[in-house]
Amino acid sequence: MTAAEGTGAHARRAAPDRGRTLLGPALALVHTGQAPTRSALTNALEVTRATAGAVSAELEALGLITVDSSPAGGGRGRPSHRLAVNPAGPVVIAAQIHADGLSLALVGLGGQLEPPVHLPLPPATGPVRMLRAVAEAGAELARASSRRCLGTALALPNPVTEPDGTALVALHFAWPSGTPVADLFAEQVRKADQGPRAQYPFPSAVANDANLAALAEHRHGAGRGARQLLLVTSGHRGVGGALVIDGRLHTGSAGLALEVGHLTVDPQGRPCLCGNLGCLNSETDPDALFAAAGRTPDPDRPLLAQARELARAAVDRLGLGLAGLVNILNPDRIVLSGLHLDLLAAAPDRLASVVAERCLWGRSGRVPIVSAEVTHAGLVGAGELAWAPYLNDPQSVLPLPG
Ligand SMILES: [Zn+2]
Repeated sequence: MTAAEGTGAHARRAAPDRGRTLLGPALALVHTGQAPTRSALTNALEVTRATAGAVSAELEALGLITVDSSPAGGGRGRPSHRLAVNPAGPVVIAAQIHADGLSLALVGLGGQLEPPVHLPLPPATGPVRMLRAVAEAGAELARASSRRCLGTALALPNPVTEPDGTALVALHFAWPSGTPVADLFAEQVRKADQGPRAQYPFPSAVANDANLAALAEHRHGAGRGARQLLLVTSGHRGVGGALVIDGRLHTGSAGLALEVGHLTVDPQGRPCLCGNLGCLNSETDPDALFAAAGRTPDPDRPLLAQARELARAAVDRLGLGLAGLVNILNPDRIVLSGLHLDLLAAAPDRLASVVAERCLWGRSGRVPIVSAEVTHAGLVGAGELAWAPYLNDPQSVLPLPG
């Protein structure tokens, strides 16, 4: 299911089905940009040049990658064939529901997003109606595309349980807790007309948006190469977190790990949706900053000084939350996105020192805190989820009919 799966583990498997078992790991390496040439693929898979050649030829025949054998020019030594994802190859439909609307895009391999479309949420926001709108808008994209369409996945702004796929505390939409979103979405996807170029069966999946954003950053962005990647994000509303360990999302026993929004960072702080005071959610999300900005300035003190105090306070609270997470999780990189990216940009040194001061190993063991890089990370991550069955088994991609 993950890009890292099998990249090393399966490489030494013995002969008979060797070619086939290497296809998934090889495709994952090209997909994540780790094998831009055939010699890089040979090294990464720890196989012979002949085997890497056969594997890349098979992925090319499946229409998933391109193999360019023209000399790169200028370089010394024997030029290696260049490998890339096929820009005209198959796509999946990625969708994301957020507090401000619905976003969709077709996503090819390599996390390559076609231009996204943004739609308002349907007026009645009950789950069936909203999921029908998502499925129909996605199918419209699939029908309009000349590319093979393989499946779909949806990012949601609330926790999604595993393996049953129910939405918990979908507070933004007032959906009943326990709504079976995975089943309801699958039903609506089945009813939608995906057009003549869709491959059936047409799988669908649903997951939490912060988890999917972390997957996107790990494979295609600021989290590349991290072994224990912590992502903290403040999206349209609230604060989410996710952890990717050795390329796999750590989702806990039921999909509910890393609900970091409800860490207490100020016991006297603002009330949170969950009923507590001063959660990371209610102290560092966009609503919190608007509320802080609305405080009446003290007429007896310089305005700029007061504004700086507000910004510093938000940075400090974020730092407190991150420090708590660092002490529990010991990540080797933290990626911040959404509004938190701006807090990092505004005061990178202060944020790093607030975290370091409270970490058990202190200033000497600073965890790199970096900005997210993937645009539309929720959609790119949903693309990863929809691509998962085919990254596992590239031979399940069938040629276009006709
Ligand atoms: Zn809370």
